[in-house]
Amino acid sequence: MKRVMAIANQKGGVGKTTTAVNLAASFAASERPTLLIDLDPQANATSAFGIHGASRHIYDALIGRCVMKEIILPTELRFLHIVPSGRDLYGAEIELVSALSRERRLERVLVDFRERYDLVVIDCPPSLGLLTVNALTAADSVLIPLQCEYYALEGLAGLLETVSAVRQQLNPQLALEGIALTMVDQRNNLSRQVEQEVRSHFGERVFRSVIPRNVRLSEAPSHGKPILLYDVHSRGATSYLNLAEEILGRIGASARREPPALDRASAPAPSPTPAPDSTLRSPGAIARRTK
Ligand code: ATP
Ligand code: MG
Repeated sequence: MKRVMAIANQKGGVGKTTTAVNLAASFAASERPTLLIDLDPQANATSAFGIHGASRHIYDALIGRCVMKEIILPTELRFLHIVPSGRDLYGAEIELVSALSRERRLERVLVDFRERYDLVVIDCPPSLGLLTVNALTAADSVLIPLQCEYYALEGLAGLLETVSAVRQQLNPQLALEGIALTMVDQRNNLSRQVEQEVRSHFGERVFRSVIPRNVRLSEAPSHGKPILLYDVHSRGATSYLNLAEEILGRIGASARREPPALDRASAPAPSPTPAPDSTLRSPGAIARRTK
C-alpha cells in the first residue's frame, strides 16, 4: 500500500524535520522507494542531506516554473530521493494567495509521482499556513510529532481543527497516521507524566515507539546525513527504525521493488561525503545490521 504522509505541527522545534528525515531514511533502508519533500522555507530537511543552495526547488514546481522531475535529487540511500526547498518558498505563502486552487498546488505537482514511490514524506513548516494546508491536501495521512514537555498539548487542538477543516473542504481521505512522541527522556518525571497524559488522551493513536532525546540525532544534520548513515548503532537510529517498522506494519507493507529511475537529463547529485562504513550504503545491509 502506498502512503503520502505529512509531518506537521505548527509548534516550532518539536522534531518535525528530524522525524521526516529519519523516518524517510528508515523506510528507504527497508528498501521501500521513498520520496522526501521539503516543504519548509527553512530547508532544514534539505541541508540535513548535505544539499545547500539547490538552483531549483519545490517553490519552482509549486508556481509552475518547472516540473517535479527536474528537481528530484538522489541521496546516499539508493531507495530515497529528495525534493529540496529553499528560501524562495517564503514568498509562496503570499504569492499563491490569489492563485486559483492555491491549496491544491502540491497535490497537482505530485499527481505523476505518487505512484512511483511507496512512501512520500512531507516535512511541513511550523505554521498552519498555506504550505501546511497544501501538504494536508496532498497527503493520505498526517503524522504529528509531539515533544514530551510541559506545553506539549498546547496548540494541538488548533492543529486537529485544521486537519478536520481540510478533511471537510479539501481532502476527505485525510487520516491521522498517529502521534509520535519525540525527545523523550525516561529519567525525567515530567517527560514520563506527559507521555502518560498523551497516551491516556489519545490511546491507540500514539505510536508505541518513542523517540528518545539523543545527541547523535542532533549532530547528524551538520554532517549532512540521516542518523542511519551517521551512527547506525545510536538509540536515535534504532528508535526511528522501530517507528518506521511500526508504521509499515500498520499500513501493510508493500512488496519490495526497484527504486524509480531519475529520468532527468541533468541530475546534479548532491556531493555527499562517503559514509564512514561503506557497507552502510546498501539499504539491505543497514536493515540487517540494525536488527
Ligand atoms: P521547526 O519547527 O523549526 O521546523 P522542527 O519541528 O522541524 O523545527 P527539528 O528541527 O527536527 O524540529 O528539531 C529541533 C531541534 O531539536 C534540532 O536542533 C534537532 O537537531 C533537535 N532534535 C530533534 N529531535 C531530537 C532528539 N530526539 N534528540 C535530541 N535532539 C533532537
Ligand atoms: Mg523543521
